[in-house]
Amino acid sequence: MYISTRGDKEKLSAANAIKNGIALDGGLFVPESIPKLSEQQLLALVDMNYGQRAFAILEKFLEDYQKDEIKASICAAYNESKFDNPDIAPLVTVGEDRHVLELWHGPTSAFKDMALQLLPQLLSRALKKTGEKKEVVILVATSGDTGKAALEGFKDIEQIKIIVFYPREGVSKIQRLQMVSQEGQNVAVVSVQGNFDDAQTGVKKIFNDNIINFRLQEQGFQLSSANSINWGRLVPQIVYYFSAYADMVKGGKIAQGGAVNFVVPTGNFGNILAGYYAKLMGLPIHKLICASNSNNVLTDFLHTGIYNRNRGFHKTLSPSMDILISSNLERLLYHVTGGNTAQVKAWMEELQNSGTYNIGNDYLSQLQEIFWADWANDEETVAVIKDVFSRYHYLADPHTAVAWHVYNSYRRQTGDYTPAVLVSTASPFKFNESVLLAIDNSIRNENQSEFAMLHSLADRTGWPVPNALADLAHKEILHKINCSKEEMPAVLMEILKID
Ligand SMILES: *Cc1c(COP(=O)(O)O)cnc(C)c1O
Repeated sequence: MYISTRGDKEKLSAANAIKNGIALDGGLFVPESIPKLSEQQLLALVDMNYGQRAFAILEKFLEDYQKDEIKASICAAYNESKFDNPDIAPLVTVGEDRHVLELWHGPTSAFKDMALQLLPQLLSRALKKTGEKKEVVILVATSGDTGKAALEGFKDIEQIKIIVFYPREGVSKIQRLQMVSQEGQNVAVVSVQGNFDDAQTGVKKIFNDNIINFRLQEQGFQLSSANSINWGRLVPQIVYYFSAYADMVKGGKIAQGGAVNFVVPTGNFGNILAGYYAKLMGLPIHKLICASNSNNVLTDFLHTGIYNRNRGFHKTLSPSMDILISSNLERLLYHVTGGNTAQVKAWMEELQNSGTYNIGNDYLSQLQEIFWADWANDEETVAVIKDVFSRYHYLADPHTAVAWHVYNSYRRQTGDYTPAVLVSTASPFKFNESVLLAIDNSIRNENQSEFAMLHSLADRTGWPVPNALADLAHKEILHKINCSKEEMPAVLMEILKID
């Protein structure tokens, strides 16, 4: 059963937790107890494929789902029509001992696919299981990556509609094309005049508007979101930690039962938290290394125990980590305090009121037994991309490069040579401009278009352009609605055909 991090007494099944997304008291859902894998079960993963590994982990958390429902969800999410690598999340060894877990072989070339391919499957089955009659309308405000990944995951899923609002001045040309060419019977994509904040403020207003919500309910609709605090987005991510470990054993990089470190480029703390759950379940993880960019609020937190979001916001080359409030940290606090919900609630209120809280030295030292943290600036990020390419002919995207830099610092500072997995969160083609400039700064003056750059990068490296990106130039534009942020509620009603 699932309970709130803030002490609400209600206990929900997995299906209800996934359907509701967030607890009644504003807390996040956490599992009441953490299932464990025996040594035998761990060993058995070695000879399984990704789908079988996913089943072994997911069935422990989704006890109210039938085995067949879980299997069907996995098959629909992780298959070769959606992923361009049969291993789904392949582990690639670069040089002697950099083991890279590539999480970007899905339909949108970024790691969000790992969760957003499975969440819609789990959600639509949750609606059936809980007898929900309303149609769920997923609203997303996106700065680029999440919107496309959510569209791909939710397209043509029964009983669910998805509407994505993106800022007209805030996404790259490729990101815009990815969204406006989106196919599917249940999708809508709207450009909003202004920046990401305008789009996000508009969506938040709709969620908090009682009159709009009442009218939607009357017409049989229920609003929901696909953001990373939903348990259904977190649980799929636990799988690839086990999968990477099994591949390390299979490849003879470690002995069964040997310790491994994971290095994770971190923003909202969802990805690395899944690694923490894997450790609690018995995966032999020695250290989880939290890598940040210049928005290094988590580095400071893991060094001092003080979370302080009152600081400047930096736009970096790794934009998916440009975050000052890491929502999923709340789950970590719940577990590290042994389920002290009153304490977690107090910290979250302090964060809300003053932008900062302090967990004190005892909890901090517990966290430091497991987590290590550091950060990389843009210059260091570019230097790593260049260095890794010239040494190993391997392309790291800027987020992955942040992790790579932090791992180099980790080895230097700690002398710990425990075999390590670097978690790679985006295809280098997704951030082609930064990557291309890093490996060949001389093209800076050529003013190539984003499409030209995709091909320049491919030509220079011999790596293929991912199909979904290569096809974009020929796709039909299907979504042309455009509005101001004030017009968003009216556009929503129009799309849902409510007058
Ligand atoms: C979302 C994202 C991250 C950050 O992951 P969190 O789970 O939010 O910590 C890192 N890299 C890329 C490419 C992402 O899209």
